[in-house]
Amino acid sequence: MDSKQIEQIIEDEGIEKYRAEQIRQAIFQEHASSFNGITTLKKDLRERLSEKYPLLSFELYRLFESSDKTTFKALLKLSDGKIIETVLMNPKPGHWTTCISSQVGCALACTFCATGTMGLLRNLRSEEITDQVLFWRQFIGERKIAERLNNVVYMGMGEPFQNTKNVFDSLDELMNPDTFHMGARHLSVSTAGIVKPIYQMADRFPQVNLALSLHIADDEKRTELMPINKAWPLAKLAEALTDYIEKTHRKVFIEYILLRDETDKRDNAKQLIKYLKTIKPTHLVHVNLIVYNETESSHKQTSKDHARWFKNYLEENGISATIRKNLGRDIDGACGQLVVQQENI
Ligand code: SAH
Repeated sequence: MDSKQIEQIIEDEGIEKYRAEQIRQAIFQEHASSFNGITTLKKDLRERLSEKYPLLSFELYRLFESSDKTTFKALLKLSDGKIIETVLMNPKPGHWTTCISSQVGCALACTFCATGTMGLLRNLRSEEITDQVLFWRQFIGERKIAERLNNVVYMGMGEPFQNTKNVFDSLDELMNPDTFHMGARHLSVSTAGIVKPIYQMADRFPQVNLALSLHIADDEKRTELMPINKAWPLAKLAEALTDYIEKTHRKVFIEYILLRDETDKRDNAKQLIKYLKTIKPTHLVHVNLIVYNETESSHKQTSKDHARWFKNYLEENGISATIRKNLGRDIDGACGQLVVQQENI
């Protein structure tokens, strides 16, 4: 459910216009789970709407909960039977982040990524993207596990910038004061590196956080890991990020998976530092080091000690870096893992 669909329902059903506000309030602030729960509406109207219009464009298919209760993962069945996944995380007390999908599957075929093995099945509509946030808001409300959901990251299945129109529409909706009412700085979009939408983000969404999945700073090796690098090589990405920083004065986040003996060596660190210094001003570049969640692929994860060494090496050379906390390992927190397994059952 989103603002456009509510307007459509009001029109189609001949409901008085002032009811729109009551409906939005109940769905987005009070987290009603169906039209039946909107008690400000008359009973017969409520029942009629409830039968015709589900609030979510998918059904919960399976829910997984990590043993420490810091991560929840949901598989959602879309109206055409396809399945996507979305994750809710509690990285620190009082903070709740959801990781949402932008496509069913993904066309990019990065060798380390489970979603990549599925290929692209289809793009998600804007409503299917924002409904994932609505789903977790309802979940949080029902379980009374938190006051509110703080952050949304587009780091689930899919490449947001190969579904740019719907992703941009979904960002507008998440920031819409009548519905989701989230602050731009609480939203983050992560891309494997498609240049044109990076320029568009700087103009249209300067306050939304931007992350680039870099993973290695060598064109030849990056093309092996991430074939999209052939179309948009490192130099083009550095230009786009420099433009982004110039226009927005915001930090950019560089995602870097430490793959044992592939991306975690001293030479890799040196190359990374050299490359990041071509993005100006470099103090607005922040590296998130990711410990790899091993999948069916042949890539291996780095040890914690070695990750700390890599982080310190970057910092000694003037690059700010953090090691991303890894949540939900016991429920296969990594991108696309569960849907892929589901298909193998
Ligand atoms: N296509 C977008 C967003 C989806 S992936 C992108 O590439 O940024 C979100 C992040 O998870 C990316 O940085 C991706 O490289 C990373 N990722 C994928 N598989 C992973 C795994 N098995 N372990 C850790 N990170 C993974």
